[in-house]
Parts: sequence; structure tokens; C-alpha cells
Amino acid sequence: MRSLGRPLVSCRWRWDAVAVRAAYGRHAEGVGRGSLRHPQHAGCGQTVTSFGVPTSLYCGAGRAAVAVSKTPGQSSVSYDRRARGRCGLLAVAHRLCRRQIQCHRRPLSTKGRQMGELGMTIDGSSMWGRQTFGVVDPATGAVFAHAPVCTVEQLDQAMDAALRAFHEWRREDDVRRAALRECARVLLGALDELATTITAEQGKPRAASVAEVVAAVSWLRYYAELDIGREIVQDDRHGYADVVRRPLGVVAAITPWNFPVALAMWKLAPALRAGNTVVLKPSPYAPMSALMTGELLGRVLPAGVVNVVTGPDPLGDRIVTHPVPRMVSFTGSVVTGRRVAAAAAGGLKRMTLELGGNDPAVVLDDVDPEQVADDIFWAALADNGQRCMAAKRVYVARHRHDDLVEALAARARATRVGPGSQPSVQLGPLGNQLQVGRMAEYVRDALAHGAALAAGGTALDRPGYFYAPTVLAGATDGVRVVDEEQFGPVLPVIAYRDVDDAVNRANASDFGLTASVWSADLERANAVAARLDAGQVSVNAHAAGVRPDLPFGGHKCSGIGVENGVWGLHSFTDLQATVRPAPKRRRQTRTG
Ligand code: NAD
Repeated sequence: MRSLGRPLVSCRWRWDAVAVRAAYGRHAEGVGRGSLRHPQHAGCGQTVTSFGVPTSLYCGAGRAAVAVSKTPGQSSVSYDRRARGRCGLLAVAHRLCRRQIQCHRRPLSTKGRQMGELGMTIDGSSMWGRQTFGVVDPATGAVFAHAPVCTVEQLDQAMDAALRAFHEWRREDDVRRAALRECARVLLGALDELATTITAEQGKPRAASVAEVVAAVSWLRYYAELDIGREIVQDDRHGYADVVRRPLGVVAAITPWNFPVALAMWKLAPALRAGNTVVLKPSPYAPMSALMTGELLGRVLPAGVVNVVTGPDPLGDRIVTHPVPRMVSFTGSVVTGRRVAAAAAGGLKRMTLELGGNDPAVVLDDVDPEQVADDIFWAALADNGQRCMAAKRVYVARHRHDDLVEALAARARATRVGPGSQPSVQLGPLGNQLQVGRMAEYVRDALAHGAALAAGGTALDRPGYFYAPTVLAGATDGVRVVDEEQFGPVLPVIAYRDVDDAVNRANASDFGLTASVWSADLERANAVAARLDAGQVSVNAHAAGVRPDLPFGGHKCSGIGVENGVWGLHSFTDLQATVRPAPKRRRQTRTG
């Protein structure tokens, strides 16, 4: 350890090992404790750590960015002012060196920290596999980080750790509530770093990544505060009976690439609150933010409660068929969902399947197209349409068709597409190369079957996976982009004859995730909404009910079970009825 001055205070860092590992990944093994030192060099007067290279360190409850220079007097520490009261080390630093420490609001920097150094979280430790796989930045098409490939032995370790942790974790509800609040705090504390990572691996504009992390935090907070009561069925002189929810054990959580942090939290927050422990596997297209989430949560949760493993498939199948998990909570495509259901059936595991959608937006004939065009466009094209609950086909009265197409096409042409890291960008690249090929195929097929291109229709001529926002006019059923889930920025507009025709065509699908009805007349809209077969129906908005307190799940092939709300938490439990006799009453004895 390099000392740059006489120690004024030597402060053992409570979270030292974790903080160092977070900053250095696998290279951290063997790095010793940090100490707070008071430098004697003229003009310095800052806190110095002794790890030897400029870096960012998480520090206890707050965030500290510590830049260490080998030249005396050049080192500095800066930290988030909000952290001061909560972190012992920073409080001491501030008191002792208050005139010298530069103190300003600054988010934790990813500079100096290699994203590729993020390890899996297994049994409370950061772990690497024997191999890694490349993670591509869709804005450039180039590999920007490497993630570990989980070995069979490491998966066993993760499962064993989760099982061991379960027995203690299930005991105290108040402890779990407090832990979820802490999880929310550490995620929010790393907002910038997480958002940067999501944008780098998934492509979405930074503002959308920030919103995703904030949403993830709100899920944790919601489940921390949710009251879960026991239901008393009988309590009288004949006896007592109640029903409670018991945790299942280890939950296998498998997520897709479009919302790598938020969707992980849809699973983790209720599963943990209910008393389960978790092994999380993110998509190999977007593993880095989940690895980061694992490291962050590992600072506040007991070892083994949350484990994060990464690797290309067949890792997912190995997790589902592993004997330890009692439940599989899966989000992804219908095709994979079928495989998961078949594999989980062997172990009679509980499962929640949150699958794809092909969600209709039905625009009634009393709507002025120009008035709803903005909302419908973004309901369909936000995140490049790569949302399960995006509006994926628009049904409009025949006489309004051309006006609505033109209004949507105008918005498509005006949309700013580019790397998500650029502040002015509204749509980033598609999530991966496969997606670009799929969009081209959908457009080719639709044009061959009579649809017309109103806007877009091509990949952008630049590095990365960019595709122009596309609106197709005059689409019909029987065309692939209408019948299948396109999951991309190609929106078909379909003319209907009358409301019955619209409802029948909207329902003529194996999917049933979300739907929407647009009308100037709320009563009319409500009546149509009641006829649509979907897990969530919105009026004059689309997927407006994606919130922590409402159930989200698909009808038909869009899924089994629900997430979110108290109903989502119930999915992570089994019912247990307890029956006992009434306490014996003491006989009144008469005297005299
Ligand atoms: P996908 O089905 O290809 O992959 C999802 C996850 O499953 C990934 O982590 C993948 O590695 C894993 N996986 C692959 N094969 C597996 C197997 N045999 N067993 C277990 N796991 C396996 O989906 P994707 O392309 O990542 O995501 C897009 C799809 O997800 C779209 O269909 C979208 O609609 C859907 N989705 C649904 C919801 C919802 O809440 N209903 C939310 C987001 C996305």
C-alpha cells in the first residue's frame, strides 16, 4: 500500500472488500483494506486511498469517486454530498479535511472501471468463469465488454448458495422489507452507471435507461411497503383456521434483453419480499447491467440471497431443469416460453411465463387522427417497438385510414434516430443484428402482399443496428407483420369496416397481452374495451397500467400467470392453511 502522508485517521472500511471488488472486478482479489490518510503535501489536502490507479469506488452508503495520483498533491476525492451523513468514512473525511476536500454533486463515474470486469454474483462473491463472451454495443456493432460464461459447477454453487440462504431469509418479514429499501437505495445511488450500461448494451436513449432504473427502484419500494396479511377464515368457539402465503424456495429468474434491469426487478422484488431466494439469468445480449445489479444488491443482501449468472444458452435450459429451483419466473418469447414450460413440467415446478404480444390499438371513427397520432406513434415505436406491450397493429375506420397513416408517417420521418448516448436522440439502434434482418423481412413480405410504405422501410446506412421508423399503409390480416409479433419499428395500419369487424380482427390472434381503444366517447370506448381479449386494456392510452400495483400478464399464448401487484407476489408463494382447535375455556365454578 502506498502512503502519501501521515495518517490522521485510519478508518477501516466496513464494505471495503465489496467496494474494492466492485471497482476492480476479478483483479481485486488480494487487495487490502483502504485507509483514510491526511496528506501533508502542500496544496493537496485531500483524501488518498492506496490502491494505486485512478478509479471510482463505491463507498458505503454513498458514492465516492477517488482519483489517486502517484504524484503527491494531485490526488482528489469527490463525492455525492447526499452521502455525507450516511457514510462513516465520508463523514470523517469531511470533518477532518472539510476545507480541503472538494465536495460537489457528482455521479459515480464509470471512467477507470472496465465494464468487462463485472463478475457474476454467486454466494456473495464476484466470480468469473473459465471463459467469457463478447457483448456488443448495438450503436456500433462492436464488442464493448465481456461477460463470464457460467460453468456447470458455478451454476451448482449458485443454486446451493441460494438454497442455503433461503432457510434464514424466509424467517423475518421485517428484515426483508428493510433489505428491499436498501436495495432501492443502492440502485438509485448507481443510477448513472446503470443507465450508461443499459444504453451501451441495449441501445435505448439514455433518458429511457434512466427511466428504466427509476422504475426498477419503484418496484423495490412498492414491494417493501406492501402489506401481506394472513387471512383468517374461522375464529370462533369451534376452532381457528387461517391461510398464509409461504415462500417456495429458490426461484430461477430468466429475463430478455429489452428491459434488463426493470424486468429483473419485476421478479426479484416480489420473490425476495415473499421470502424466496433467487438465481437470475439475464439475456446474453444484455448481461452487463444485470451483473452490475448483482454486485450492487450483493452489498446489502446476505450472501446467496440473489445470485446472478451469465452465459449463452443452453444456460437457460440448465437453470430450468436444475433440481434446486422450485419456481421458474420467465420473461421472453412465446417460442422459448413453450420450451421452458415443457422443461419445468418435468419437475412440476411453479412457473410464471410473461411472453410476447401482438397488441392491437383500435381507433374508433369519432377520433381526429391528428389528435391521437403522437400518442399512438410512441405507444408503438418507443424503444423501437421492442416492448412486449407496444402497440403492434393499428386498426382504424376505413374513412380515417389515410389521415392516420399520414399523421403517423410524419412523426416517423421527424424522429431523431442515433446512438442512445447522444442527448437529442429519440430512438436508438435495434437490440441486435438479428432484429434488423427481421424488420427487412417483414417489410418485404408486407409490400409483396399489397401494403404500401408510408415512411421508413430501410436499415440506416451507418455502423450499428439502425432501422428507420416505418409505417405501413393498407396492411391486412394474413401478412406476417400483422399476424406475428414484429418486436421492432415497423407499424402496420389496417382499415376496418365497422366496430364488430375491428374487435373480431383484434381478437383473432394467439396473443393477448395488452390492447387499447381510442375514442372521443368514453362510454363507447369502455364498451369496446370490455370485448378485447387481453391481460390489460387501456382507453385513450396504450399499456397505461404497467405499474407495480396492477397485475401484468398475458391471455392466450402471451403467458401464464401474472407479475406485479399483490397478485404477482402471490405467484412466488404456496398457500398454507393452518387449522387448530379453539382454546379451551375455563369452566366457571360456582361457589356458595
Ligand atoms: P427469448 O425468448 O429469445 O429469450 C428470453 C430469455 O430466455 C433469455 O435470457 C434467453 O437466454 C433465455 N432462453 C433461451 N432459451 C432458453 C431455454 N431453452 N430455456 C430457458 N431460457 C432460455 O426472448 P428475447 O428475444 O430475449 O426477448 C424478446 C421477447 O420477450 C419478445 O417476444 C417480447 O414480447 C418478450 N417480452 C415479454 C415481456 C412480458 O412481460 N410479457 C416483457 C419483455 C419481453
